[in-house]
Amino acid sequence: MRVIYSPQQIQKICLQFRSKGKSIGFVPTMGYLHEGHQTLLRIARKKSDIVILSIFVNPTQFAPNEDLSRYPRDTKGDLAKARKEKVDFVFFPTPESIYPENFQTQVRVEKVAQGMCGGTRPTHFAGVALVVLKLFNLVQPTTAYFGLKDFQQFTVISQMVRDLNVPIKIVGVPTVREKDGLAMSSRNVYLNPEERKAALALSQSLAEVKAKVKKGEVNLFNLVDGIRSRLVREPLAQIDYISCVDAYTMVPLQKYQKGKTLFALAVFIGKTRLIDNLLV
Ligand code: AMP
Repeated sequence: MRVIYSPQQIQKICLQFRSKGKSIGFVPTMGYLHEGHQTLLRIARKKSDIVILSIFVNPTQFAPNEDLSRYPRDTKGDLAKARKEKVDFVFFPTPESIYPENFQTQVRVEKVAQGMCGGTRPTHFAGVALVVLKLFNLVQPTTAYFGLKDFQQFTVISQMVRDLNVPIKIVGVPTVREKDGLAMSSRNVYLNPEERKAALALSQSLAEVKAKVKKGEVNLFNLVDGIRSRLVREPLAQIDYISCVDAYTMVPLQKYQKGKTLFALAVFIGKTRLIDNLLV
């Protein structure tokens, strides 16, 4: 495994592999790797000749009041995990090399990026789309793997790739969870033991929706109301949003549509903002 810091160098290496007809599987991350990230890497490993992991805490997707400066980092641990998953190259750029002085280009995806996380974090997806497109141009992957825990992010990237004719296959990977149901996230490390227990309200409220739909309840108002009442019972939880949307367009749904109905939520547990979702 090699660690590459320079954008120019990773681009040169990847161009050589592609010109030899090798497939490149790419997993972009912000590091502090956990089993969710490792699952993406394992799938990439199975499906591609060359596996590239990027670790970059992207400043443009954080608003000034968010947790950029305290975002968890563990370079040594990340590299050990990457080695374990048989990653070929770790791309580990500095913010200055990705956004040099006089950088002035934006990438804005419109409708699918506007509600939910885009509603409460209005600059977030512009930063995500920008960095992902830049990483795609550097790594030139055949296929890129994204977690469906960040369902709206997956939709935004898929839309961007379609709209801009980016020749990369985008694969969504189901959410990896802790044994008790909490969606794995690098931000879970912020939670103290009491908050860790409270954080279960997210996955549990969605599990209740799943059970209700299975029993035949399809009234979206009632289902969303069920999520809200489960969350407000939890004193440490503060709701950022609860949405029920079409999983492909991110447009709010009035009626249940089998296989397309996405319940998505963002909740502050103490100061930590967590997200989760359920597709039914
Ligand atoms: P992050 O480092 O949080 O930006 O995540 C990097 C990639 O890993 C994104 O595609 C995430 O959706 C994905 N990911 C994060 N957590 C999970 C999880 N629990 N299960 C599956 N994928 C995940």
